[in-house]
Amino acid sequence: MSSTLIKNGTLVTASDAFKANLLIADGRIAAITRETPAAQRVIDAAGKFVLPGGIDVHTHLNTLGGPEMFTADDFYTGHRAAAFGGTTCHIQFADQFRGQSMRESYAWWRDISRDKAVIDYGFHLMIIDPTEGVLGEIAKFREWGVNTIKVMMAYKGRVMLNDDAIFKVMRLAKQHGCMVLTHCENGEAIDVLQHAAAAAGHTAPIHHALTRPPELEAEATERAIQLAQAAGGAPLFVVHCSHTGALQAVVRARARGEAVWAETCTQYLFFTKDKLRGKKGNAFEGAKYVCSPPLRESDDMAALWQGLASGDVHSVSTDHCPWRFDVHKSRGRDNFMNIPNGVPGIEERLMMLWDAGVNSGLLSPSKFVELTSTAPAQLFGLRNKGALAIGHDADVVVWDPAKKHTIRAARLHGNMDYSLFEGMAVTGKPSQVFSRGDLLVDGDEWLGAPGRGQFVMRGDAAQ
Ligand code: MN
Ligand code: MN
Repeated sequence: MSSTLIKNGTLVTASDAFKANLLIADGRIAAITRETPAAQRVIDAAGKFVLPGGIDVHTHLNTLGGPEMFTADDFYTGHRAAAFGGTTCHIQFADQFRGQSMRESYAWWRDISRDKAVIDYGFHLMIIDPTEGVLGEIAKFREWGVNTIKVMMAYKGRVMLNDDAIFKVMRLAKQHGCMVLTHCENGEAIDVLQHAAAAAGHTAPIHHALTRPPELEAEATERAIQLAQAAGGAPLFVVHCSHTGALQAVVRARARGEAVWAETCTQYLFFTKDKLRGKKGNAFEGAKYVCSPPLRESDDMAALWQGLASGDVHSVSTDHCPWRFDVHKSRGRDNFMNIPNGVPGIEERLMMLWDAGVNSGLLSPSKFVELTSTAPAQLFGLRNKGALAIGHDADVVVWDPAKKHTIRAARLHGNMDYSLFEGMAVTGKPSQVFSRGDLLVDGDEWLGAPGRGQFVMRGDAAQ
């Protein structure tokens, strides 16, 4: 039995901000009150905001990206970094292993995460080997606590599914109460451009972006939307929208009343593809910014920010896929096609979005909470998370909006050797971070213990 009172703070929900005291008891939010109930621990949050913990629905911890090559953060270091950034729950892509059933792959992910997890988490199951047997397992996903299936429209010859398999997955997802998540880029056309780049001797990181033009994202997004409709209206979540044309396809579908949602990721809100050119005299620095879809143009950034403010973009995630510069990205020094795709950001997400979004006046604190916590919880059936509500899990962040600091990779808490945001000065940072009432982060102090994090059995996804 333990209790904490967070007093004098401004509580922020997706619809409101108001001064109140928040009582945590036995891991849950027990009261929101003007009174001052007794508690074993009292935190004075005067001048601070009290937010529901961040939820990052797009992560790749402990993920195999090539022979003997796993992403740099496991479920312990990734969770420690997440918590220091104010994120208390995430949904991980649990990739199928080729030749294994979904049940075997799911069991592997449950095993690898169990003893390391500090915050709570769920899985999106990614199908890469869509045999009839594997497709037949979709009927079981809800029993395993999973309501989402990921398919790749890119990475031909590795994890890409063709349209027939994608369409089958969508029909079964609709039938069995799952939402489909799509990585939307046309893998066939990218393959043509990459062969042409190889023939022309193009090896620098910028060619990653030049061989993945935005039209191929817009095309695949539109195709996914139309396939989902033809599949009977399978709910569709378009991950990592980076381009105006892709976002517009989602906006059009929603105007028709279709069950389609759009995510963007922090990096697409801050950087253009010029970052892939690297630094003067060091083009390979651009490898740090290699992700797919690639970074785009400044007008795309503006459209995504506008989409956050207008409600056309529903979630800001990270696509945290931490490849170190020293041992992973460097594999592509001679050829951009060998640079592992993906960028880190699980710790920086909330601080960057708060600074550029809320401090600028574009997003209200409530909109920030909606985009980073409440909407993700509702979309993906995280029933006891994403809100400051009586009875919900006490995943709570005390946020200091006046704290100025500079992002330095060396001061972050994961296992990465660089940050996209290195040297950027921001205002706003978590002071305390609670997960189910346990204090994980207190200022600069780490109190989290491996193995306390729980796998979340999710309810219904949005339809
Ligand atoms: Mn992707
Ligand atoms: Mn991803």
